[in-house]
Amino acid sequence: MKTIAILGSTGSIGTQTLEVVRENKDIEVAALAAGSNITLLEQQIREFRPKLAAVWDGQKAKELEQRISDTGTEIAAGMDGLLAVACIPEAEILVTAIVGMIGIRPTIEAIKAGKNIALANKETLVTAGHIIMPLAKECGVSILPVDSEHSAIFQSLNGERHNRIAKILLTASGGPFRGRKREELKDIQVEDALKHPNWAMGQKITIDSSTLVNKGLEVMEAKWLFDVNPDRIQVVVQPQSIIHSMVEYEDGAVIAQLGTPDMKLPIQYALYYPNRRFLPGDRLDFWKLSQITFEKPDTDTFRGLALAYRAMQEGGSMPTVYNAANEKAVSLFLNRKIGYLEITEMIERCMDGHNVISSPSVDDILAVEREVYQRIESR
Ligand code: NAD
Ligand code: MG
Repeated sequence: MKTIAILGSTGSIGTQTLEVVRENKDIEVAALAAGSNITLLEQQIREFRPKLAAVWDGQKAKELEQRISDTGTEIAAGMDGLLAVACIPEAEILVTAIVGMIGIRPTIEAIKAGKNIALANKETLVTAGHIIMPLAKECGVSILPVDSEHSAIFQSLNGERHNRIAKILLTASGGPFRGRKREELKDIQVEDALKHPNWAMGQKITIDSSTLVNKGLEVMEAKWLFDVNPDRIQVVVQPQSIIHSMVEYEDGAVIAQLGTPDMKLPIQYALYYPNRRFLPGDRLDFWKLSQITFEKPDTDTFRGLALAYRAMQEGGSMPTVYNAANEKAVSLFLNRKIGYLEITEMIERCMDGHNVISSPSVDDILAVEREVYQRIESR
């Protein structure tokens, strides 16, 4: 029996994690946390019987507490709730399926409490990777990637840990607007950007995939997870999403992980690492799969990727500016307050106006986040 806790249990990764739990029958769920969807959280509590559940929204937490008073599950709220879920003594693994840099503090506290982290919440690693990776090492805990590309890289490193990585080949679908030029993107509406060709995901990451900001965040995520310089991370557009990423070694050998696009594979791999289990679903059929094609990313049109490399090069607090400006801009775009191209324009303007703090503390990171938000709000 394994015991886990999940931050963000009502989202895309959270619900798929619970599907994996449901299918395997040897994982217990000690705690769940969600933002505001208490209808789904109530169903999850009744099915998985966690000891603790947390809701970010205080009012909703009270409402849920009344609704589930017959279950024995304790309810907590706000950041205290997230921290309690992250550190619940019963759990060995914390699945960070929450979206955004709100995950920083719970992730850090969970590591200090000795939990292995099944990490989907890339924004936390992008902004605080320099704190999290050394801390994990010090505390002897594993950071197990859930992001499909990083899981593929992780799988391609099996048995090769003693060898130097020559290059990480991070694959990208190119998103729904691949092939278009900048002028053709200015009238993009929310509905257009929410149509991803290969994956069904939460709204924020779907927009990030369309701007290639997601790939930018993933390059930074890979840098921290696998300790490689950004100049050794190459983004390869592979529109079919069959190759989930590759590692090139010094002798020129390239090892890849392939499969049909299904997030349950990387989720289950992180939960049972180093073991593999049966996973229901489609298998790759090489007779039907007529071709796998490759392209260079168009970083003139999709500025988000170029800006990510710049943020990494400038380092320190710059990735936080990149990430925070994107979180705010995407939320404004989803609320139809700004146009599509303004997302990356805002990121660039915030980066231009920022004086880098080298090696920022968690407090510095959160202060930079507030500064960026204020800058965008007062524009
Ligand atoms: P989502 O929007 O579907 O779900 C987010 C979850 O976080 C929800 O349960 C929501 O209630 C919860 N949440 C948000 N703010 C909260 C708060 N303040 N307090 C408590 N809970 C809060 O997002 P998602 O697509 O599942 O993505 C989650 C993370 O995983 C992101 O960092 C994303 O980049 C990463 N990721 C997702 C996918 C995917 O296929 N969806 C793939 C790779 C990586
Ligand atoms: Mg990914």
